[in-house]
Amino acid sequence: MNNPARSFGADFKTETVRLYLRHTWTTTMSSSLYRDTLHTVYTHDGISGYGEGAPIIRYHEDSEGARKAAESMRDYLLGADPMQFSKIMQDVFRHVEDNWAAKAAVDISLMDWVGKKLGVPLYSYFGLDPKDAPLTTFSIGIDTPEVTKQKVQEAHDYPILKVKVGLDTDEETIGAVRAVSSKPLRVDANEGWKDKEEAVRKISWLEKQGVELIEQPLPASMIEETRWVRERVRIPIIADESCRRASDIPKLKDAFDGVNIKLDKSGGILEAYRMIYFAKSLGMKTMLGCMVSSSVSVTAAAHLSPLVDYADLDGNLLVTNDPFRGVLVELGKLVLPTGPGLGLNANDSPSWKGES
Ligand code: MG
Repeated sequence: MNNPARSFGADFKTETVRLYLRHTWTTTMSSSLYRDTLHTVYTHDGISGYGEGAPIIRYHEDSEGARKAAESMRDYLLGADPMQFSKIMQDVFRHVEDNWAAKAAVDISLMDWVGKKLGVPLYSYFGLDPKDAPLTTFSIGIDTPEVTKQKVQEAHDYPILKVKVGLDTDEETIGAVRAVSSKPLRVDANEGWKDKEEAVRKISWLEKQGVELIEQPLPASMIEETRWVRERVRIPIIADESCRRASDIPKLKDAFDGVNIKLDKSGGILEAYRMIYFAKSLGMKTMLGCMVSSSVSVTAAAHLSPLVDYADLDGNLLVTNDPFRGVLVELGKLVLPTGPGLGLNANDSPSWKGES
């Protein structure tokens, strides 16, 4: 992907940023005190666009691999016309294998640049009304009943909670939440239940606890079993690990009611946008989710959120050293920034903002 015709003043920087978590973050997949995400800055004609991608362990990604993949695109990006962003991302998808976090970071920095160049916030670029942005859930990771209660109480400003389950402690976890809150709950099993009978049993119990949807009850490959489960439960079943990109969606129809779309899985805003419309065209519900990440990635997803039924865009709220401010959450409602592009502002914290 070499292109010697570098544009005057073009620059592309990559850096791994370590984001520290407020609480140890535990799901069925991992437990951690921090997450490393890839940050990128694309500069052209005196305008800088910021991007971020969270490498997903589930898909064998890590931050160093993500950074190297982004660096491999450097010469191509420096020689490209950023207003041809669709062509650029098509080339990137064609030539770079896997490394979806790196693709997401590049796509987001390009789209931030494009919005700034045109002088419009990304939601306007996509023709959306920021008032249509939905409520976001606030996520409660797996923990002891005592800590779960404390986390739920700390989340008093959020009208809908998303609770992680999928271990042997599911009933205690939901019991702890219900001991201190009667809010609507959405539950994410992260592939944690291993057979269809167990999934039906657990979901039927969750329905009685005021749970309004269940995410990824069974392992990603168990699509036929999920279809069997769906025929036996009432609440919507949303695909997360079963759905990475648009090409995954057709086989999920009828097994799932909807899909959870994340920029880190899709490889950026453009593919996420395609996925939203594709899922809608099949009559499926749409959710925008995120990984633990800074305001760069979460704000990028939030600009598309007026299109979706559900938002789970709280990854930046879980970290203590966010380098940027972008989308805000007011009593659960996503409030999109009105500045051009992503509309980010640098925070005063000493974290990396690409100026090195
Ligand atoms: Mg999930």
